[in-house]
Amino acid sequence: MSRKGLHVKIGELKSDLGLIKNLELSIGRVVEEKWAEPMGPTPFPSLTTLREWDMKLLQRYKPFYLPFCDVCCLCTFGKCDLTGGKRGACGIDMAAQQSRIVLLACCIGAATHTGHARHLVEHLIEKYGRRMPLDVGGLNIQVEAPVTRLVCGVKPETLGDLEDILDYVETQITHCLSVCHTGQEGSNLDFESKVFHVGMLDHVGMEVADIAQIAAYGFPKGDPDAPLVDLGYGTINIEKPVILCIGHNVVPSIGIIDYMKENGLDGEIEVCGLCCTAHDITRYYKRGKIIGPISWQLRFIRSGVPDVVVLDEQCIRTDALYEAQRIKAPVIVTSEKNCMGLPNRTNDPADAIVEDLVSGKIPGALILDSEKVGEVAVKVALKVAPLRKKLKAIPEVDEVLRKAKECRQCGDCRRACPQDLHIPEAMKAAMEGSLAKLADLYDLCVGCGRCEEACPVGLQVHSFIIKAGEKKLKEETFKIRAGRGPIQDVEIRNVGSPIVLGEIPGVVAFVGCANYPKGGMEIAEMIREFASRRYIVVTSGCAAMTAGMYKNEEGKTPYEEFTGEFTAGCLVNVGSCVANAHIAGAAIKIANIFAKRNLRANYEEIADYILNRVGAVGVAWGAYSQKAASIAAGFWRLGVPVIVGPHGIKYRRMLLGRADREEDWYVYDARTGEKVYVGPAPEHLFYAAETKEEAMVMIAKLCMRPNDTTKGRAIKLTHYIDLHKRLYGTMPEDIHRFVRTLADIPVTMKDEIIKILEEKGWKETVIPDPTLLPRLIRKKKE
Ligand code: SF4
Ligand code: SF4
Ligand code: SF4
Repeated sequence: MSRKGLHVKIGELKSDLGLIKNLELSIGRVVEEKWAEPMGPTPFPSLTTLREWDMKLLQRYKPFYLPFCDVCCLCTFGKCDLTGGKRGACGIDMAAQQSRIVLLACCIGAATHTGHARHLVEHLIEKYGRRMPLDVGGLNIQVEAPVTRLVCGVKPETLGDLEDILDYVETQITHCLSVCHTGQEGSNLDFESKVFHVGMLDHVGMEVADIAQIAAYGFPKGDPDAPLVDLGYGTINIEKPVILCIGHNVVPSIGIIDYMKENGLDGEIEVCGLCCTAHDITRYYKRGKIIGPISWQLRFIRSGVPDVVVLDEQCIRTDALYEAQRIKAPVIVTSEKNCMGLPNRTNDPADAIVEDLVSGKIPGALILDSEKVGEVAVKVALKVAPLRKKLKAIPEVDEVLRKAKECRQCGDCRRACPQDLHIPEAMKAAMEGSLAKLADLYDLCVGCGRCEEACPVGLQVHSFIIKAGEKKLKEETFKIRAGRGPIQDVEIRNVGSPIVLGEIPGVVAFVGCANYPKGGMEIAEMIREFASRRYIVVTSGCAAMTAGMYKNEEGKTPYEEFTGEFTAGCLVNVGSCVANAHIAGAAIKIANIFAKRNLRANYEEIADYILNRVGAVGVAWGAYSQKAASIAAGFWRLGVPVIVGPHGIKYRRMLLGRADREEDWYVYDARTGEKVYVGPAPEHLFYAAETKEEAMVMIAKLCMRPNDTTKGRAIKLTHYIDLHKRLYGTMPEDIHRFVRTLADIPVTMKDEIIKILEEKGWKETVIPDPTLLPRLIRKKKE
């Protein structure tokens, strides 16, 4: 790929002409061209390069606004009332304002992944050098960075190559962020186009981060048999000192593991994690343990088990320091982005920091040197463990029963609870001496702590629930397959045809955070359902952890039940949040490796291929963060629909197709140039489902694509109808929209469906070679 420049450093060079010492030379820009594929039309796209493609999507999938907040207070003119068609003092209307906030959220999300990637790449270059090769799977993975190749048109080969890519991503994110300033963009659709742009950039940033860490740290390289590792509170040996790492950037955790190994302490200390850092710990260290998703933060800290809490970046409770102080566990913060008000001790000797943390002179320290973090965390854990004696902040049963009597039954806790849990009833039962109803809430609670903040009496409601469910917590011993990273090229070759022809009914990716509407059980159920139906099921992040926390009747977790190979009926854990790029990468690789479409800077054609042919759907059932928003946006631009849980409506808008507007569903037949109706497939691009049942039916529906073969469409319809009948008890009302020819009809339902088609006045349509891009028409209509 092209490099910024050649940098030569000469320590000492003797020649006949004399002696050169300490010479540093920088020479312009060097182009190393090793990639034979010709450059596509859109390398390093700017904000408007792909605008036309975006508008094609937005014309079909129009934003449907759900204003979560109908005023704007972004500048000092605010609060501007935007209701009833009013405009703000800057002239902005409600639609543009809602899309503007979505763009702002996505910029935050993309900047977060990209900042993470930048930190990782700089750190790894410092450690291993710019020339370290990006081997993420040897001969098994020759398309090592599909998203980057597609977007930028470059083929990164070394760690150093990633710097140029990040330069581009950072510049574009800055431009997108500037669009949110007062008095910039005035069109809601142009805001949305920039949302897609920043989502696409986010996937590049994520890919850079994950391939850098896979290559440098030797994480599993697309290995379908990545090891099964421990998941759950119950896997921790609480007799040992415990270091808890929370966040998303594994660098300090690696410092801890390396220090332990180098000092003969491997196995003496438990190293565990919450959220995505935990995934990456287990990709590096088989003895590492995952406690659970982000929603386990309060319960695990309050349990008193961690002796040291190490925080890196993203999705960390901002009261983690306060909570750790309650159990007298020192805190080490390790990221410039998250200093928690603690003194910067980076340049102090490790032993001096250890002394201050162990003595309690300081509650925590900022250490911006991962090796020093390793030494300090390990030494502090060893010294503090015998002193703290696992001091906990969860009350004993008699205290819960006593405190419950103070409950006024005011209901403030339930009103504050995002899950609308029946807390007052459970407290009433506790007043009367039974913790059973509080224990029932354990599986449903997502650990936000809002109930406690709302309680006028100051009752520690979340802690009460955890105490009541303590038996379950302690029995949490599960297995999860360590994040395997990318999908192998050969796996893509094997499944490409059945996916594109529709014989594998779809690829469903369960990703994102843990703000589940009814606890984690629902996501585990959905994963089991679709893996059992032989969909390709992929997962990452907190969703992947939750999936592992529910065993079947045989006592197996889904990771023990389903194969880790990317094939029909699998459950593939790609890894932490940044590994989401491999899911997009798999869809891109189907177009490139299986269908042999050019990849290099050929964004529109590949996205057009995926939209029309690859039945992939993303599901972020517990999505809450800005990162989840930008990840989704990256999928939308690629033509992959995303479903979120009911909390997802707080992202302010959906992107909905209108099945009744026939004119929205025409594509070109690339063979003839004719415009052909293809039905509402896929029907929506971004959809918030109210219930698990609704989500499951929608997943099956959104996997349909215009290019499905008749056999493939029949299989997809069978799943759609079967799920609809089972979950709603009725035949779907729109079945006629998805039957293109009589051969699409599932054989077992032929009579029933033909009757419906007749009633609806159905007419047969042709199955085209579908595209939205006129330039792909091979033979123009005369
Ligand atoms: S940015 Fe516009 S709408 Fe928002 S507060 Fe300022 S003037 Fe009002
Ligand atoms: S901590 Fe649990 S019970 Fe309390 S408000 Fe949050 S979800 Fe509801
Ligand atoms: S807010 Fe507190 S006092 Fe009110 S019902 Fe809930 S637990 Fe009881």
